[in-house]
Amino acid sequence: MFDAILIEKTEEGQQVGIKRLDEAQLPEGDVTVSVDCSTLNYKDALAITGKGPVVRKFPMVPGIDLAGRVESSRSDQYKEGDAVLLNGWGVGEGHWGGLAQKARLDSRWLIPHPTAFTARQSMAIGTAGYTAMLSVMALERHGVTPDKGEILVTGASGGVGSVAIALLSQLGYAVVASTGRMGEKAYLEALGAREVIDRATLSEPGRPLAKERWAGAIDAVGSHTLVNVCASTRHGGTVTACGLAQGLDFPASVAPFILRGITLAGINSVMRPFDDRVEAWRRLGELLDPDRLETITETIALEAAIPAARELLEGKIRGRVVVDMAS
Ligand code: NDP
Repeated sequence: MFDAILIEKTEEGQQVGIKRLDEAQLPEGDVTVSVDCSTLNYKDALAITGKGPVVRKFPMVPGIDLAGRVESSRSDQYKEGDAVLLNGWGVGEGHWGGLAQKARLDSRWLIPHPTAFTARQSMAIGTAGYTAMLSVMALERHGVTPDKGEILVTGASGGVGSVAIALLSQLGYAVVASTGRMGEKAYLEALGAREVIDRATLSEPGRPLAKERWAGAIDAVGSHTLVNVCASTRHGGTVTACGLAQGLDFPASVAPFILRGITLAGINSVMRPFDDRVEAWRRLGELLDPDRLETITETIALEAAIPAARELLEGKIRGRVVVDMAS
């Protein structure tokens, strides 16, 4: 038997709670993992609260990330006792996920757990931090080097934003953080932001082309913010788009693309091939200082993940939340 968050659909609507489940109820998979830690991402919060159409099958155990140890395996790649990590692959959406003490998974979704981190640390990074790394790597691929100028990070106090600031500053970029929580200025500066701006300066409809400022940007917000970021990106710059915290819309003009040759690079963390995942986690191991990671992380027990999901969507959570199965 094991504990899990279970989302069920009833006649009264979606219900969520902690349930004690039997291992026989676990879905198909060639590897069974004893989960040490999971985490709370924006997508998990949407799934738990039912505020977004994340869950594709009921009942569902949410949790798009997990770190744990292999309990049993029919795969040649993993044996009992191996430390493993999972990000994405539809887990917590269409297949039972990591917000549970046990998970049964397809071994192709796993990677060996990065030796640079403990399970708690890799979950402090989670999909949010891994997506921040993928975004930084996309800027690098498009030739945005630290000497090119300032990089804007939107949704700065959130999970993607916090890790993106830490990574970029570690790499020597001049980072400008955009936030709706100016009270978090000291936190953002401690992570490495050189300047903190109010997100209100970016969130309203703007002109198709604005004064050129950013050499590059990492956007987790979408909607008018992403449009304004593109409009103020310098000639030849690159903006990465991974999120929709403000909205799924993109009410933009083609002007920045055709008159300034800017690139908009989409980031999807869910279905990355094995080698990409291993490389992103290798870079995270190289760049992220565990002490800095500690400053952005709060650790909670499984039961606390349900109220925390609501707080995350209300913008009340700063940085990252680890869910420790032993707490
Ligand atoms: P968080 O909730 O931790 O952070 C989101 C941040 O966005 C908030 O902290 C807030 O930052 C800002 N924000 C919230 N509401 C608004 C608003 N109405 N207008 C402008 N800014 C707002 O989420 P994550 O960092 O984990 O994820 C960020 C986004 O990235 C989400 O949309 C998520 O779904 C997406 N994502 C996508 C992935 C992919 O593979 N493409 C993977 C991971 C995440 P502040 O208070 O500083 O303004």
